[in-house]
Amino acid sequence: MPTTSLKNLCQISLLAGACCISACGSIDTKNNAQAQPTYERLNAVLWMQTSAEYYALTQSAYAQATSMLGKGLADKNWTAAQEQTGDYQNLPPAIILDIDETVLDNSPFQAQLIKDNAIFTQEAWDKWTQLATAQPLPGAKAFLDFADSQGVTIFYVTNREASQEQDTRKNLLQQNLPLRDDIDVVLTKNENRWSSSDKGARRTFVSKDFRIIALIGDDFGDFVSGAKSSPETRVELAKNGQSAWGTKWFLIPNPVYGSWEAALFNHDYAKPASEVTKLKLKQLKGF
Ligand SMILES: [Mg+2]
Repeated sequence: MPTTSLKNLCQISLLAGACCISACGSIDTKNNAQAQPTYERLNAVLWMQTSAEYYALTQSAYAQATSMLGKGLADKNWTAAQEQTGDYQNLPPAIILDIDETVLDNSPFQAQLIKDNAIFTQEAWDKWTQLATAQPLPGAKAFLDFADSQGVTIFYVTNREASQEQDTRKNLLQQNLPLRDDIDVVLTKNENRWSSSDKGARRTFVSKDFRIIALIGDDFGDFVSGAKSSPETRVELAKNGQSAWGTKWFLIPNPVYGSWEAALFNHDYAKPASEVTKLKLKQLKGF
């Protein structure tokens, strides 16, 4: 846990505001200078770190993914990616997983931010990822080992930066998670001209050589392009994928951050925290 480094960081920062790991792209926290410390993420982080409910949901998602893998392998017309087109029936099988809050648990980083009354910064996030000590989520390792044993190639499609790839690989290897070394299976942001946090181009890239039989992530953007839209549009898009949820698409709960939250303030991380709070309050549905 990066206690010392984050403490140093927060000593120069009395801010609290938008925090987001990788899913949202670059973050401008300058304009959050008027933000007041809040405990906005306290319950969410504690839920992830302490609750039986979080354990059960995460374990269930991976158990369900495990139970569907054989079906996806047997049915050559089966694909989980909307980006997959053409004659993919005889391509070797692959699955795509996000990393943060899908395979690796960064809740110690989030917890430390709260304890230090600090905001998310790229510098703090880099320090945490350099430690390479994140643990796998419940069920993740067993599922990945099973998929690996079935000859399925595992791609990790993450919005961690290309500069973080080596530390990320180190973390995955230290946890003994399957990681092919003959091809690049860790597809980061800004690698290979993938400058967008939208993962569609990377799914397209994988789909050229592999039949993608499952997608696993904690953010709607791990499944479709278009996550960066309004809350209403996102729900409509989720309904369009009705038959895929629980069969080809497996969602890991993340109440702490993600495009679901950014949608509440038009995905504009430059907005002052006070305006973000106002926008959030405005969208509460009372009676
Ligand atoms: Mg994630």
